[in-house]
Amino acid sequence: MALRFYNTLTRSLQEFHPVEPGIVGIYACGPTVYQLPHIGNYRTFLLNDLLHRYLQWKGYRVKFVMNLTDVDDRIIEQALARGVAIDEFTEPFIRGFFDDQQALNIRPADVYPRATRHVSEMVTLVERLLERGHAYLVDGSVYFAISSLPQYGRLSRIDLSHMRAGERVASDRYEKEDVRDFALWKAARDEDRRVGAVWPTAWGDGRPGWHLECSAMSMAELGESFDIHTGGEDLIFPHHEDEIAQSEGATGRPFVRFWLHVKHLLINGEKMSKSLGNDYTLRDLLQQGHSATAIRYLLLSAHYRKELNFTFDGLEDARAALRRLLDFQDRLERSPPGDEGGDSALPDLARTGLADFEAALDDDLNAPAALAALFTFVRETNAALDRGTAPAAHLEQVRHALRRMDEIFAVLDLARAEGQVDARFAAWVEERLAQRQAARARRDFARADAIRAELSAAGVLVEDTPQGPRWRREAPRTGPASA
Ligand SMILES: [Zn+2]
Repeated sequence: MALRFYNTLTRSLQEFHPVEPGIVGIYACGPTVYQLPHIGNYRTFLLNDLLHRYLQWKGYRVKFVMNLTDVDDRIIEQALARGVAIDEFTEPFIRGFFDDQQALNIRPADVYPRATRHVSEMVTLVERLLERGHAYLVDGSVYFAISSLPQYGRLSRIDLSHMRAGERVASDRYEKEDVRDFALWKAARDEDRRVGAVWPTAWGDGRPGWHLECSAMSMAELGESFDIHTGGEDLIFPHHEDEIAQSEGATGRPFVRFWLHVKHLLINGEKMSKSLGNDYTLRDLLQQGHSATAIRYLLLSAHYRKELNFTFDGLEDARAALRRLLDFQDRLERSPPGDEGGDSALPDLARTGLADFEAALDDDLNAPAALAALFTFVRETNAALDRGTAPAAHLEQVRHALRRMDEIFAVLDLARAEGQVDARFAAWVEERLAQRQAARARRDFARADAIRAELSAAGVLVEDTPQGPRWRREAPRTGPASA
């Protein structure tokens, strides 16, 4: 079976072939760096990782581009509130984003273009749209004329009978009921000047709109037509619809061939929201003692177009699944080889396991089916090893199959590293607690308190019980993100 994806543009499963044989260009909408990403964003980022890894696994050369939106309405608003320039405001969130990517073992993109570093391309794009009659100027701002582009609305299949051509919407994020001419470029206000969010153009100072940023950066990195664009389903309208309008309006060529969208994440059966307090960042969950590997596994375990309900029980199940994989890997390492010329079922199991695994991912990245193939392979290989030994070469074939499958889910090394860190951390805490007990025994309370403060600074809460001190990791603090 050939590789196929569900394309939002055509609402159908389509065989995937890149424009240039063997080479794939992917653009993923990255974070808006006004807060740390929440766990729902990570579902989308992990779909990107699955796509990125799988195309490379299949032998494609991939150019993967993920932007950082470091200027938009919300960033300006919050930078103003803190009285700092946008660059200073976004810096810790950019750092936090990269830390999280690493913690979740997400393969890095080839480029992370930042909007503020690509304004000249955005200005050029606006000039082209003005020249071609798709845009017009009002008081130093430039708007896209949606009535000038017959294909407007094709991606989102929006009801154009509500279209209010000639009426304008200035904000970056608006609803489907607001099908109006949208801002490409916003004339500078005093507020924008105060936070350094102003660039000069022939028609006056201002700043780019959010949608324009992605059109300009994707075409700058991948050319005017490229293979795959991804994002959360909430970006279909207006963001991606407007990206298409801007790019196709300027070039007259098809912008993107495949649009992949990730369904939103539920948390304990509820929609994620700031008001419910369930918009966890990765940092929140790690501080609660949850494992990054289990989070990665759980977020990858559902099909990206199906609802996924993120629960703490689900994380425990993920841990159990990871344990089984680690045990299996250990068994393969330890199994003594049998006679050189002997026979075993292992080569067949390795072949079938890999073939089923690939067939599942070829089918629109069906991760749950791929995991099912992986665990069938684990179960049957275990059963074969229970029956008797296998020659060294056969054992090497199943080890290789497991490594190949783990190139996609990428959890084994991460889980081992995490286990070591956990064990080292626990040993350190126990050592500090022993020192504290010794200090108390010799009535050196200042020393005992200092050790307690040291543990607290490391996120460890100590409780003294009649059986001696107990410790646990502190409940999550809200990160710098939450205002
Ligand atoms: Zn975007």
